[in-house]
Amino acid sequence: MTTQEFTTNSADETVELGRRLASDLRPPKLVLLRGDLGAGKTTMVKGIAEAFHAAAQDDVTSPTFTLIHEYRAPEMSVYHIDLYRIDTPRELETLGLDELINDERNLVLIEWGEKFPKLLKERDVEIAIDRLGPEQRKITVFLAR
Ligand code: ADP
Ligand code: MG
Repeated sequence: MTTQEFTTNSADETVELGRRLASDLRPPKLVLLRGDLGAGKTTMVKGIAEAFHAAAQDDVTSPTFTLIHEYRAPEMSVYHIDLYRIDTPRELETLGLDELINDERNLVLIEWGEKFPKLLKERDVEIAIDRLGPEQRKITVFLAR
């Protein structure tokens, strides 16, 4: 397990950090994004998806209601999932995440995944975002390998 710590001072800096982290996130990966509402989890996904040429940053929006967004690149796909509204393991089952996670072409990025021990156990990477001020964030990256 390696840990890296960063500080960003704007949303743009968090997008840029997401771009730079992408080289550690090559598929297959399951990544948990942790942090309060408004911390910057979705903002980070903008940079990651852009780095893989899966989506332009403006096309990455919160999957709060749709639960799963898929961004396809020629060789891989980025799945951006928000489990904020999912409360039970049974509801989680209906999303069919296992199939996405087990596909070696996929990078699966999950917000609020820590609600489910099964996902915590299977994660490859965790990115924790802490709000230090209106525009300042501490971003800690835990790499399992
Ligand atoms: P989450 O997905 O964690 O709920 P979002 O990424 O949707 O959060 O929202 C983060 C909000 O905080 C955005 O409005 C963004 O512009 C703002 N923001 C301000 N500073 C930062 C920063 N350093 N990093 C990320 N977002 C920031
Ligand atoms: Mg979000």
